[in-house]
Amino acid sequence: MLTKETQAILIPTLKKYFGYDSFRDQQQAIIESVLSKKDNLVIMPTGGGKSVCFQLPALLFDGITLVISPLIALMKDQVDGLTANGIPAAFFNSSQLNSEHQGIFDKVINTKIKLLYVAPESLALLSNIVNEKYISCVAIDEAHCISSWGHDFRPSYQQLGFLKQTLPNTPIIALTATADKATRQDIVDQLNIPNAKQFLTSFDRKNIELEVRPANDRVTQIIKFINKKPNEAGIIYCLSRKSTEQLASKLKQNGIKAMPYHAGLSFEERNKTQENFLFDKTQIICATIAFGMGIDKSNVRWVIHYNMPKNIEGYYQEIGRCGRDGVKANALLFHSYADVIQLRNFAAGASNEEVQLAKLERMQQFSEATTCRRKILLSYFGELLAENCGNCDVCKNPPKFFDGTIIAQKALSVITRLNESEATGIVIDVLRGAQNATILDKGYNKLKSHGVGKEISWRDWQQYVIQLINQGFCEIAFHKNNALQLTSFSKKVLFENKKVYLTYPVSLTDKPEIHKEPKATSVQKDSLFERLRKLRYKISLEENFPAYLIFSDAALREMERARPMSASEFLEISGVGQRKLEVYGDDFIAEIISFMNEKTEKRNKENTYQVTYEFYKEGLSVEEISEKRNLKPATIFSHLAKLYTEGKDIDIYQFLTKDDVEKVRKAKEALESPEALKPYFEYFKEEMDYSKIRLALTILNS
Ligand code: ADP
Ligand code: ZN
Repeated sequence: MLTKETQAILIPTLKKYFGYDSFRDQQQAIIESVLSKKDNLVIMPTGGGKSVCFQLPALLFDGITLVISPLIALMKDQVDGLTANGIPAAFFNSSQLNSEHQGIFDKVINTKIKLLYVAPESLALLSNIVNEKYISCVAIDEAHCISSWGHDFRPSYQQLGFLKQTLPNTPIIALTATADKATRQDIVDQLNIPNAKQFLTSFDRKNIELEVRPANDRVTQIIKFINKKPNEAGIIYCLSRKSTEQLASKLKQNGIKAMPYHAGLSFEERNKTQENFLFDKTQIICATIAFGMGIDKSNVRWVIHYNMPKNIEGYYQEIGRCGRDGVKANALLFHSYADVIQLRNFAAGASNEEVQLAKLERMQQFSEATTCRRKILLSYFGELLAENCGNCDVCKNPPKFFDGTIIAQKALSVITRLNESEATGIVIDVLRGAQNATILDKGYNKLKSHGVGKEISWRDWQQYVIQLINQGFCEIAFHKNNALQLTSFSKKVLFENKKVYLTYPVSLTDKPEIHKEPKATSVQKDSLFERLRKLRYKISLEENFPAYLIFSDAALREMERARPMSASEFLEISGVGQRKLEVYGDDFIAEIISFMNEKTEKRNKENTYQVTYEFYKEGLSVEEISEKRNLKPATIFSHLAKLYTEGKDIDIYQFLTKDDVEKVRKAKEALESPEALKPYFEYFKEEMDYSKIRLALTILNS
């Protein structure tokens, strides 16, 4: 049990160092358990907020928290993030010099740091400090890497079992986003922490909007998608190295800052690309699944799957990389049968082929769902959602069903005539009455059902066939060149008149917009958020420090909403802790104040007409208004002219006669350049004043 004192300082510590006012989900329970020196296994989705669970206790322990983390490349980033929050930390790895290592040992021995990040490969070099004199806690990040069951197995993780023996009284906290039972058990066994308290938090990431689209014309769809989100960072996952490169170059041709990332690139290239992405210099990464682990850039706003992932675990982990800050984010998946077939081929012959295929099938069911997608995802992770989520494409555009029995009968009879031996493409060609070489060669043009479905377009047929497959009215024989075959359901449709319900195909052009965001044009460009984002970017370049580590998008959004203009108000923003206030407070407050001043100025300008109008309606004369407002009478006349053209109730003939107007009309015809006022003034030999001329022209022009 924790003392009351310790419990009481948890929230203030969270605010002071991390800037947050409250814990998420189970963070507090986890932190209390760590501080009570128990061992813990934490399962939380990507972006769920695992780091705080060991970083906050680290602040309260006397000694050092040792953090085992798999990726050297990202340690610097994590340490930078901590430093920016005023938490002293360091990392230790093989890329450093001996002298640097000595410096780190000194810091440990003199407890000058609170956290030390280390890759498992380098642990052996730390034997002089890995003892309970210095170490108060061990955190093992990405703990699933220990398990060969998991999808990211790393042999170096397997030696971590020694930690419990060397540090028997030191609490261990293992963290991962991989939920399955086998992996969990493996982690606990291998780390020798059989009594670890297990924390399984909700896997729901409500702020991520889920969407699946058919994979037609993907590149065009992607460009459109990106153009609606200028400046927003995103990741596009592709199946092959080649497609990451092709896609990146197509995007570049369209003026979009995109770079490829895959394991075939050199270490330097990958590092550079990753860094540019972290620094907001590259907006988009087209990557294989090699990219992303450990990337905790919180302002990734969207993830696109160019190809279908091979299982739901991978999909969920990948989409989890967007919207870590809790602000609205988008996950878009393109679904194609070609991908399914390719993934099946990849799985073929693997030792766990059956498992892989079963997982692929679940992925496919998710992609083809006609019910809330989030429900399907969460149920996969053993979590039941009572209500539909309201934040997926199915919830937003529920499919409309119609009686498609005749369509189904046509397709199934063509499959029958083709002896269940042809794949979807040829089935559709026959339905559409195509006369291409294959059809003629095989004599399919002579079939009775050749052309029975020519009133339906090729693309719509494609979608209907997919629906028939999904509903079990026919199936793909993957082992027979993907031929379409009948099922027991087919007979009911063909011979027993069983009704089939289909949904209207999604057309790519008239698909209802589900992204009802404010127009990404002028409105957003001069918003306070944009101004703050630019300031953040400028500081990031000056300090050579990633922008999202200065403030998250969520913090900027809250600044935009709350408009803090003093230090105390600024500190109330979620994401602003003591140190961030000290380092960045002045700059951001100044930007907010200058934004607000400009706003007021602009509003005053717009208001000036309104003020004149109010006085006018009160019955004040032009002279009186002029005096009250300390403006020249000519200015007031120009206001009245403007108000008149806007259709306001101004009795303009109070200031001039119809005769005056007539004179000006004649002058207008006679003058060579009738735009300016001066020629009129001269035309009338200075006998009609400027205001009258202006008012007369107002009448003539309206
Ligand atoms: P994970 O390691 O689980 O993928 P992180 O630890 O990187 O996730 O946290 C994701 C994001 O959530 C980070 O930007 C983090 O600062 C933020 N976060 C964590 N805890 C809280 C909290 N209690 N309130 C608000 N934001 C939080
Ligand atoms: Zn939903």
